[in-house]
Amino acid sequence: MNTYSSVRRRSVLAAAALAVPLPALGQARRPPLALCTVGMVGDMVRALGGTAIRTETLIGEGVDPHLFRPTRNDISRILAADMVFANGHRLEGRMGDVLERARANGKPVMMVAETLPRERLRAHADYPDVADPHVWMDPTLWAEAAGPVAAMMERTVPGAATTARLAEFRARLDRLDAYGRQVLGSVPERQRVLVTAHDAFSYFGMRYGLEVDSIQGLSTEAEANLARIEALVARLVDRRIPAVFAESSVPDRAVRALIEGAGARGQRVAMGGTLFADSMGRPGTYEGTYEGMLDHNFTTIARALGGTAPARGLHGRLAA
Ligand SMILES: [Zn+2]
Repeated sequence: MNTYSSVRRRSVLAAAALAVPLPALGQARRPPLALCTVGMVGDMVRALGGTAIRTETLIGEGVDPHLFRPTRNDISRILAADMVFANGHRLEGRMGDVLERARANGKPVMMVAETLPRERLRAHADYPDVADPHVWMDPTLWAEAAGPVAAMMERTVPGAATTARLAEFRARLDRLDAYGRQVLGSVPERQRVLVTAHDAFSYFGMRYGLEVDSIQGLSTEAEANLARIEALVARLVDRRIPAVFAESSVPDRAVRALIEGAGARGQRVAMGGTLFADSMGRPGTYEGTYEGMLDHNFTTIARALGGTAPARGLHGRLAA
């Protein structure tokens, strides 16, 4: 049939010929599948489960999770997985029903951001009944959420989420956080204002001492409005903010309108770069990992706002 079973058949014959004890039935089966919604969740689950589980991610690079609508195939994948990890707090606004259905069927389903205690979360006027979902923007929150994720994985697949892997994941996020504090702390105080396409950076701003402002609200579903753009242009000019930022999963039209608006008022505002807000970079690249995503954001923001950071980031691995 497939290559896998023929390889297995061959290795079984070889093992028999050498009289090596055969693996018990079931040991050769593929590891259980953890299906994750966004890349940031997938990265954490993969780090915690190692090779004891298979990790797949539903929502790909550059795709906006607020607007993502699962296809019939996506729904089948969710219902067929051994466990499902989502961010929650309505980040995956159009997947609520299918996640509920999976849970009602008895499948382990975890909303990673919803495991955090209420006092660690931020409220937002756009969603009065849930918290701001963008918690991965603060690595200390993400490290905290890894605890319940590891615990659920361990309940579903005993032996998968080792304490060593959890400790290693948290240590990596600690280093990342220290780097963020260092490089963003080097931005002149007057310029610590982060203007982006949508309101994904509130936890980030809280953690690293930046005021944040955005064209769109917490979700990207509503259209940007003109009054909002004019108010932001006035702010850019008043505060002499040197740069604004686009996001990889949101069109940059409105950010360009800010730059033009400020230009018309005699203030040169640069496009500071494209940040990873709700989606990581290309799979297989450093920016396509959680660590690379945040390293890119820290480094890009610090440099564009007048701070000091190495061009290739924390590990010298950022794309030139
Ligand atoms: Zn968002």
